[in-house]
Amino acid sequence: MIVSLIVPCYNEQEALPIFYREVKRVLAGMECTPELIFVNDGSHDNTLSILRSLAAEDAAVSYISFSRNFGKEAAMYAGFCNAQGDYVAVMDADMQDPPSLLPEMLSMLESGDYDSVATRRVSRKGEPVIRSWFARRFYRLINRISDADIVDGARDFRLMRRAMADAIVKMGEYNRFSKGIFGWIGFKTCWLPYENRERVAGETKWNFWRLLKYAIDGVINFSQVPLSVASWFGISMTFLSFAAILFIVVRKIVFGDPVDGWASTICIITLIGGIQLFCMGIMGQYIAKMYMEVKHRPHFIVAESSREGLEKIK
Ligand code: UDP
Ligand code: MG
Repeated sequence: MIVSLIVPCYNEQEALPIFYREVKRVLAGMECTPELIFVNDGSHDNTLSILRSLAAEDAAVSYISFSRNFGKEAAMYAGFCNAQGDYVAVMDADMQDPPSLLPEMLSMLESGDYDSVATRRVSRKGEPVIRSWFARRFYRLINRISDADIVDGARDFRLMRRAMADAIVKMGEYNRFSKGIFGWIGFKTCWLPYENRERVAGETKWNFWRLLKYAIDGVINFSQVPLSVASWFGISMTFLSFAAILFIVVRKIVFGDPVDGWASTICIITLIGGIQLFCMGIMGQYIAKMYMEVKHRPHFIVAESSREGLEKIK
């Protein structure tokens, strides 16, 4: 039985050796053939040379190296496209996804009741308060407006059966939001809660704006509700304006036409202009996604890999 571990790495030179040591220690105690697939997502540090030497020493290690930084989503997808295991897992290289959970996850899958075991953090210890607050709001919103079932605190760290990994490979969309994809494809998932850990070394690549953009992408990828909100805005504004016109016509007939209200007119015009631009912006977001989608660009470009056949460009 082969267990594939997909590890996206972006500037992880400090964390990688610690991660590798720990993962090897855990895997040694498991009855399986491991396959470690590291994906170097255009790192600027020594990540690639570390991966080269790991692959040279250890037959279980292989790596794919991108020509530039394509993002964690593309890195995970590259891993899924190349993983051959009967069970496949995604893990971060920074030890925030504890490898020590793997044996428990595997035995849960082997018991046969579930198709995947996913992890969720029960605390957000060590994270800025504002960030946690926004994250919680985001999860509440996206679950209300989309049919992708996304759990608060869910990590990308999960172990799944082959069938589920195949389904993920089939989801070949360009705009990828894995948390949504995992939920959308279905299958029976067991949630394993654990305490949040801070990364062992290096820095997080996600600042507030990158996370906000990620959240907006998530909503646009899995929900059409923003478009309906735009339509409802439009419809209610139209009704409101009709009522206002009626009111003004009646007032003109009854009281004559005193010329005032210039300021309020301008306010209303700018308000409507603003709402129109806002709604166009929402539409634009969807059109932009469509534009990227219809171009059919590859999700990633491989510059180098540890063995032949690892370069499936999807
Ligand atoms: N990562 C990646 N490409 C990126 C950003 C991050 O492959 O553009 C990897 C990173 O090396 C790590 C994982 O994705 O293994 C999670 O990143 P990070 O720890 O920075 O995110 P956080 O845990 O803070 O959400
Ligand atoms: Mg991390």
